[in-house]
Amino acid sequence: MSATRHFQCTICGQCCYGLLPLTCKDAFANAARFPLGFVWTALRQGSKDYAMTATLGTTLTLAHRKELAVMITPTAYLPKSFPCPALGDDNRCSIHLNKPSRCRTMPFYPYRDERYQAELLKPRLGWACDTSTAAPVVFKDHQIVLRDDFDQERQALLEQAPVLRRYADYMFKYSPWLVGALTQASSQTKTRSVVTSLSSFLTATRNADAGRLARLQLPVLNDYATRTGGDAQLAEFHQNYRNWFQEMTYLSQRLDASPTCADASVRSD
Ligand code: SF4
Ligand code: SF4
Repeated sequence: MSATRHFQCTICGQCCYGLLPLTCKDAFANAARFPLGFVWTALRQGSKDYAMTATLGTTLTLAHRKELAVMITPTAYLPKSFPCPALGDDNRCSIHLNKPSRCRTMPFYPYRDERYQAELLKPRLGWACDTSTAAPVVFKDHQIVLRDDFDQERQALLEQAPVLRRYADYMFKYSPWLVGALTQASSQTKTRSVVTSLSSFLTATRNADAGRLARLQLPVLNDYATRTGGDAQLAEFHQNYRNWFQEMTYLSQRLDASPTCADASVRSD
């Protein structure tokens, strides 16, 4: 079978719904736009994406010499029925020139080894991507043809990996529930994720910009808590928005009173 693949976006807007993985830089740049959280995904040894996940994320040692690779992804935390707040009525991105690197790299995904990228060109159910031979060639000879966006996103992920590992070390030490949740998630047939708050990241990594980011998040979290209230199917999102609003309120007030968060404690979600 030919390794040549074609792809063109037809601007149906369908991939602009639900969780949006971000780099740390893109997450912080959009703190006034997206409700932000961290999605943790654990992979067992032998998984195809294990090595890349361990490189861009971290590893977690379990009993009996078992190990998990754990991806920690800053994320625009949106229910899958919710459009990205930057999606226009015409299905176009209203921040196209400044959209996150994840959106520029679509449909490719630098959390995965390049040799597996062709698998990502199959549109999901309901997506109207053109993958016919009339569309431009985007993948050939096991490589991405126009690769600048992919390389830039991969580089950003590599550069942020040390701070995510610091966050993971802190959380594994002070929030043992997370270790249990990841272990349980990794044992499921279908890959499952665990979510933690931005405030826990800002506190654990002693982020110097934590107070400003907390203040930017407050109206966003309040808005999404309001929009998800009363819908049983969105109960988990609603509860997280509410909890995170309280954490961000605490963080912003605490940092208003003191310029450092060095001795702050992490709350679990
Ligand atoms: S930022 Fe733009 S391209 Fe990215 S998900 Fe939102 S609307 Fe879509
Ligand atoms: S699902 Fe495909 S066609 Fe629709 S906006 Fe996303 S990339 Fe474009």
